Amino acid sequence: MDISLSDEQRVFQAEVRDFLNDNLTPDIKEAGRLCTTIMAEHEATWKWHRILHRQGWAAPNWPVEYGGPGWDAVQRYLYSLEYARTGAPPLSPLGFAMVGPAIMGHGSAAQKAFYLPRILSGEDVWCQGYSEPGAGSDLANLQCRAVADGPDGSDYIINGSKIWTSDAHHANRMFCLVRTNTDGKPQTGITFLLLEMDTPGITVEPIHILGGDHEFNQVFFQDVRVPQSGRVGAENDGWTVAKYLLEFERGVAVGVGPLRTRLDEICGLAQARRDSDGNALIGDAGFARALAALDVELTAVEYTGHRTMAEIAKRGSPGPASSMMKTRATEVQMAISELATQAIAYYAAPHQPEERLPGANLEPIGQRDEMSVTGRYLNDRAAAIYGGSNEIQRNIMAKLVLGM
Ligand SMILES: Cc1cc2nc3c(=O)[nH]c(=O)nc-3n(C[C@H](O)[C@H](O)[C@H](O)COP(=O)(O)OP(=O)(O)OC[C@H]3O[C@@H](n4cnc5c(N)ncnc54)[C@H](O)[C@@H]3O)c2cc1C
Repeated sequence: MDISLSDEQRVFQAEVRDFLNDNLTPDIKEAGRLCTTIMAEHEATWKWHRILHRQGWAAPNWPVEYGGPGWDAVQRYLYSLEYARTGAPPLSPLGFAMVGPAIMGHGSAAQKAFYLPRILSGEDVWCQGYSEPGAGSDLANLQCRAVADGPDGSDYIINGSKIWTSDAHHANRMFCLVRTNTDGKPQTGITFLLLEMDTPGITVEPIHILGGDHEFNQVFFQDVRVPQSGRVGAENDGWTVAKYLLEFERGVAVGVGPLRTRLDEICGLAQARRDSDGNALIGDAGFARALAALDVELTAVEYTGHRTMAEIAKRGSPGPASSMMKTRATEVQMAISELATQAIAYYAAPHQPEERLPGANLEPIGQRDEMSVTGRYLNDRAAAIYGGSNEIQRNIMAKLVLGM
């Protein structure tokens, strides 16, 4: 197999690298460096989204007809690699990588025309209302209720709650699953709805994650009236849309590019760090072996990522490959952040999340570049849970791949 790049591909790669380096302002770069979860600091991330949009690169995977750059799989891969190398903050996947494809696949012409350009431009910030206190892995058990109302039944009234809702405190829109029927199988009474977060009756309560960051929330609905025109697909057929979207969510749950960058950083650190006898950490046989083993595993994940992209190109959605990708990539992700804490040794202990807040001027204990290591280690534990836990992904693989 020839995996060397053609001259055109090298020119493309250089063009991407130059653009990213020329346009990453210090505040945006800092947001990338301090990011320990899927979401980087809000203001800088959305400023960066708009810069990429002006360049036509906000949604690398979108078809040209909806405003995507029209790149092939290799170009998209090179873009993701260069993106990670520059240390740019991740864009929120909730719009362009999750609800966007769902609207393309199942939305009406009017919904596509209204929502897709706003997702692309960064005008709308989305959150995902799937999980509930009693419905996570068992998502079909969701109870948040929507009842038809209005003179001609043109609205829904929603009552209930959603939990673990990432970015709900910033979002102006939510895509959510609501129960519209209680008869029959639970999956057949669910509807997929798009709604505005400033609708009266919606309240958002913060929940802080392990690393101390405020990424997700609980959202409460009390007699919230939303128009039925926000429904994607037919009433009670939201499960079809939800499953379609979840395949994309798993496909993007981990960006492989950032993992390679993080592993390279550990390698650099292990070469630079000396013990009291002047020996470099990389000379420690146990550490070097762990680093090499992770390198091999990450390479395997990279190839699984290529297979997932090939599936999307062939079938339009990733299928069970996304479960495989999600599981292996998040396992490697967690192992990498664990090795990073080993590399900085005692300096991993004084965890100081307040140093990662915008404008913080506290002196870090240890190197400034290592401030995110412990936060990443703690927050990365969530990677095996969000997007559907890894145990659930194994169930899906057992059923769809092994036919069990
Ligand atoms: C950082 C983060 C961000 C998130 N953001 C969002 C968001 O924006 N929107 C949203 O809707 N949700 C979000 N979630 C929620 C996430 O999707 C759920 O946490 C996840 O689906 C698991 O559900 P649960 O937490 O209710 O755990 P449970 O379903 O209660 O599971 C508990 C444990 O039991 C295991 N388990 C459960 N059922 C089975 C089974 N059948 N077989 C084997 N093992 C099983 C699970 O693997 C898990 O280890 C987020 C979660 C995290 C951690």
